[in-house]
Amino acid sequence: MRRFALLFALVACEGAPSGPAPTRVVPPPPDPEVVEAKPPAAAQEVDAPPIRKDGTIYAESELMGTRFSINLWVGADGDASAGGEAIHAAIAEVDRIEGLASEWIAQSELSRFSDGAGGPMMELSPDLFALLRRSRELAEASDGAFDPTFYAIGDLWKFEPGSRPPAPEEIEARLALIGWERIELDPESRRGRLQTPGMKVGLGAIAKGYAVDRAAKLLRDRGFADHIVEGGGDTYVSGSKGGQAWVVGIQRPDGPGTVGALPLRDRALVTSGGYQRFFEFDGKRYAHIIDPRTGWPLDEAESALSVSVVAADATDADAYCTAVAVMGPTRGMAFVEATPAVEAVIIDHSGEVRVSTGLREIFVTAPAGK
Ligand code: AMP
Ligand code: MG
Repeated sequence: MRRFALLFALVACEGAPSGPAPTRVVPPPPDPEVVEAKPPAAAQEVDAPPIRKDGTIYAESELMGTRFSINLWVGADGDASAGGEAIHAAIAEVDRIEGLASEWIAQSELSRFSDGAGGPMMELSPDLFALLRRSRELAEASDGAFDPTFYAIGDLWKFEPGSRPPAPEEIEARLALIGWERIELDPESRRGRLQTPGMKVGLGAIAKGYAVDRAAKLLRDRGFADHIVEGGGDTYVSGSKGGQAWVVGIQRPDGPGTVGALPLRDRALVTSGGYQRFFEFDGKRYAHIIDPRTGWPLDEAESALSVSVVAADATDADAYCTAVAVMGPTRGMAFVEATPAVEAVIIDHSGEVRVSTGLREIFVTAPAGK
């Protein structure tokens, strides 16, 4: 297993390399006072972390190219040591998922799956099989707006400052390699393959959500049902904070602060926006979500500034979020309204905040200037 650094802290640390996470827990305690800091017992593997005044333990770690954080409610007299160990195990679970489902790790199981495109069926781990199966279903449900096989072309793009777009002919030549229908899976033998040589799968729009769900499940299994797990804008909200609803804010796409907040329980909220990863070339901005039909990033003038999706779990919310972004604000909201499992807050290009019917009752608009 790869190593990761885990930091227990009283307040969220500023300046993560990936920039501010688009979703954050509000209101963060400005200067929470420690009510309890048990001296670490000699036999403990993980030192008991401090419990904040609101009864939570906070920890964060850099994983999957972003910052993951956990807010775990244990109560002022809770078992900080068991809570700390559960958080440690949850973060280790995220690390494990990254190791198998990342297309950026050459030796990951996902990379080996793509390398075998056009070849025989391969045996897959339960996690990768589950991810591919759900990806296929969500690709179908979104009519290919979310399509993990986008990566045959996605691999040509690097969304970092100083990058430039690939040659149009290169994109054109690979368009025929995109098509989720050609992810072949056999649940009986838990095997799968990509049918056409050169096809590639990228799970950047779903693996983070899956890792968040796995971490949340692990915390629940250990008896900690009250928590928020967040990874780079993918949030799962479980239970409550000592009986009080967790409230999750939606970040302004154009600066600090939030446009509003949602009280949530046992649901996921995933936010994504072009402002997170992009580069500029020849006066044009290219952001990291690709239209699988063209192989090009979304047209900035027509796409949403940010999309936030609420769904039963973070795996689905993550993929739907990317799908709705690809569809654009108008078609995307029509899709959300027609899909009972999905709700959304879309900030369109003019800055208008559009809230889907199922969230209107609970969405709290932030006061202007906040
Ligand atoms: P998110 O951060 O959830 O919006 O996901 C964006 C990431 O998903 C990108 O950085 C790519 O790795 C991947 N991606 C981009 N476009 C698509 C698409 N149309 N379908 C599936 N995955 C995509
Ligand atoms: Mg996504």
